[in-house]
Amino acid sequence: MSLEPTQRRVAVVGGGIAGLTAALRLELLGHDVEVIEADSTLGGRFGLDRLGDRPVMTGGKNIGREYHTFRWFTAELGCDAYESFGYNASRIKDGQILTIDSERRGQTLKNIRRMGSARDFARLASMAARIRADRRNRFLGSRYLTGVSRKHDHAPLSEFFGPEMTDTLIRPMVIRNNGAEPHEMYPGTFGTNIAMLLDHYDQLSGGIQPVLDAFAKRVPVRLDARVTDLEIRDGKVTGLRISEAGAEPRSTDYDAVVLATPAYATAEIVRSARPRLASRLADVRYFPSTVVLVEYDRDIFTHEVRALAMDDGPCTNAGSYGQEERHIVRYTYSGAEGRLTDLGPENIDRLTSRTEERLRTHLGAPRAERVNLLVKHWKAAYSGYLPYHAEFLAEVRESVAGIAGLELAGDYIQGVSIEGCARTGRAAAGRIADHLGSPRRTA
Ligand SMILES: Cc1cc2nc3c(=O)[nH]c(=O)nc-3n(C[C@H](O)[C@H](O)[C@H](O)COP(=O)(O)OP(=O)(O)OC[C@H]3O[C@@H](n4cnc5c(N)ncnc54)[C@H](O)[C@@H]3O)c2cc1C
Repeated sequence: MSLEPTQRRVAVVGGGIAGLTAALRLELLGHDVEVIEADSTLGGRFGLDRLGDRPVMTGGKNIGREYHTFRWFTAELGCDAYESFGYNASRIKDGQILTIDSERRGQTLKNIRRMGSARDFARLASMAARIRADRRNRFLGSRYLTGVSRKHDHAPLSEFFGPEMTDTLIRPMVIRNNGAEPHEMYPGTFGTNIAMLLDHYDQLSGGIQPVLDAFAKRVPVRLDARVTDLEIRDGKVTGLRISEAGAEPRSTDYDAVVLATPAYATAEIVRSARPRLASRLADVRYFPSTVVLVEYDRDIFTHEVRALAMDDGPCTNAGSYGQEERHIVRYTYSGAEGRLTDLGPENIDRLTSRTEERLRTHLGAPRAERVNLLVKHWKAAYSGYLPYHAEFLAEVRESVAGIAGLELAGDYIQGVSIEGCARTGRAAAGRIADHLGSPRRTA
């Protein structure tokens, strides 16, 4: 008796966490799935790179205790050793260091109270209570956040909170999570930021590389393969046009496709087949960021203060790379002043020296020699979503529902956190599996 697989072929476009999660779930459900990735490595905005000899991540690496889908993904691949990192960010207010630390909730709450008016604190507390009460409110498109958006998205976040709270707390949050200024973000998406503040963070002990290696042993991956167009016939997905290693695009047949790419990239892929959907997706805003990693010959931070948030210059955050790796500092440039255009070594040296001086002045950091330095510029680091984002999502859902065999995943659907992206991948895979039915093998 010979077994003839009659599985249907599924392509997952994008090898970031949204695509990886989608592909792993489809593989577990028995489908014939492959990942198509434009880059020469998997991982997307995990940002794998090297600092000297050491593999490092220049993108997302803090994993919340509430990141259940991401933790399922790493556990499934047998790489789920985490070490605590915590959420620790200090600010300087009236010459005093105010620390927000997920391990010291009482002091953190007191510090937040000092950051704005009683009305603002009450607003923040009420949003936090809704998020704590219902996990769905951590993500975009929940009923609660949709209500907030309907009521308040006529004006940006900078008008939702008073100026003091906006400057001291809201700005560092949206700069850190979205690379955006408070006047570029809207209340209806702010729940995702509060959710990130409420979590406690770990990091993968061995970084993401072992996870990606284990993944690539399970699921076929095509690297250096850029998808240019989605092919649709009679309202059904039939395949993709793919350019491999820069060659002319060629068609490959698929029965179903998950586009796990950022909104602007998804827009380009669907443009020829669905121009209206493409132009709506292209509306979603993205903001840049530059990360400079520097290894020193000694520790820069202490265990108590592991990151300094700054609001008066291009460098918005300087933080230690790991709880125990306080000799490696990650300088982040984001927000209006941090949108760097000159990435030349002289400018990077000048900017780094300026922040090193601040760390010495405010935190008493030691004078240290730089051993290695790495610059990573992200043209579109983070999504900043849209005002009335829930309505945008409903329009996109309706449009995609009219194309059998297509599902979308990515940072603009539930939020930019690694968990938000992983959830969209897992959900998209579930819908594709429902559409295809169970894979059968015939005798
Ligand atoms: C500097 C930085 C720090 C961050 N820190 C954290 C953090 O600590 N914790 C946290 O939760 N989140 C963090 N984030 C956010 C989080 O890392 C990202 O939102 C998330 O990784 C995005 O995953 P994704 O799969 O949606 O997109 P991506 O990771 O961008 O993956 C999309 C993939 O699609 C590929 N692609 C695009 N177009 C095509 C095409 N046409 N054909 C084929 N492939 C294509 C891309 O090359 C890419 O690999 C951070 C982000 C940045 C930039």
